[in-house]
Amino acid sequence: MSTARPGLRALDDALAELLGFASVLADVESVPTFDADGRVLAQDLISALHVPPQDNSSMDGYALRCADLTQIPGVLAVHQRIAAGSPAAPLAAGSAARIFTGAPIPTGADAVVMQEDCELQGDRVQINVRPLPGQWIRRAGEDVTLGATVLASGSRLTPASLGLAASIGMATLPVRRRPRVALFSTGDELVMPGQVAPADMKPGAIYNSNRFFLRALLLRLGCEVTDLGIVPDRLDATVQALRSAASEHDLILTSGGVSVGEEDHIKPAVQSLGELTLWQIAIKPGKPFAYGRVQDTHFIGLPGNPVSSYVTFLLLVRPFLLKLLGATDLAPSTIAAQAHFNWPRADRRREFLRVRRNAAGGLELFPNQSSGVLTSAVWADGLVDNAPGQTIQHGDSVRFIPFAEVL
Ligand code: AMP
Ligand code: MG
Repeated sequence: MSTARPGLRALDDALAELLGFASVLADVESVPTFDADGRVLAQDLISALHVPPQDNSSMDGYALRCADLTQIPGVLAVHQRIAAGSPAAPLAAGSAARIFTGAPIPTGADAVVMQEDCELQGDRVQINVRPLPGQWIRRAGEDVTLGATVLASGSRLTPASLGLAASIGMATLPVRRRPRVALFSTGDELVMPGQVAPADMKPGAIYNSNRFFLRALLLRLGCEVTDLGIVPDRLDATVQALRSAASEHDLILTSGGVSVGEEDHIKPAVQSLGELTLWQIAIKPGKPFAYGRVQDTHFIGLPGNPVSSYVTFLLLVRPFLLKLLGATDLAPSTIAAQAHFNWPRADRRREFLRVRRNAAGGLELFPNQSSGVLTSAVWADGLVDNAPGQTIQHGDSVRFIPFAEVL
């Protein structure tokens, strides 16, 4: 970050300081496992049984004891039939058991022969292929052993983890309560879709796009969102909106108005009710960012330019909220990828370029990287994290953050 201008803060420093302000929400709630997707687990989940609970067959076929087959083909009497969900009697010496996928292996059996390798002859079965001991048997505890921690406190639940929690018998899960976030947009130029038709837009007016993606990003992180709409560019209105939001929320999130122009009222408004620091972060898109407190509520002000707002949310607000949620993984994992583009004019700031994977396994660049061009964020499937002052040539290895990691 040495190339950043004085006064600009390195992203990592800003993030570390921001995370220092966030402490984990104390409240834990119990929710049905069915409804826990995306929530953050508040306790370790420890298994009270083996999964699978017993040795069972992974094939339809015949369970037998390998030593009973002195020759191949060999013939064994079929003494029992074991379907999934039914109990198994011990295997009688010199016999086989008809068995189906998921059914318990009878004591005494040490292999399953798939039915395609057998011929049924009345109440006997001919085994045509020599079985290997242990074949087609899923061992008790091969997925989870009794006493194992299957999911750690702080993990974000995925569809697969809900299934795993269910497999150890959890009908409800202890999760961190949802952060309550008040959201508003600032800007007298903003108009809501649906209020004014495109043909009737006044000169200078634009539709409020930030409100839509910020709300959706917050919901995806499991927040309860109070949408306070558009607040006009007036100090009194901004103060009023902040005051009304403060008591009921963990975080007030705004977009726009965080520069220091005459129409930017966020700074004086937050300062009149609490405290606020404006940061100039050495990233592109992005740069202006505000953190403060209104009474006991966190305040974060994002830049107004849509792509700046979007990227700063992903880089700063997302980890901040995950910290409130007690999540362990705050930073997205980046992967090395090959640039299939040139980036000859490096910036002094750390850049987050909108790129997309191509079929050749490389990354292509959206041609217009302007912070106002939201099309870039839709076209892209991730960001290249490019160090300050760094040019990129076709074929260079770059750091890629897939959007799938951060959405
Ligand atoms: P500001 O940070 O308020 O100076 O806004 C910077 C730029 O972002 C201006 O061009 C604004 O019109 C635009 N902008 C601010 N808020 C929004 C929004 N909610 N949706 C779309 N564009 C916005
Ligand atoms: Mg503005």
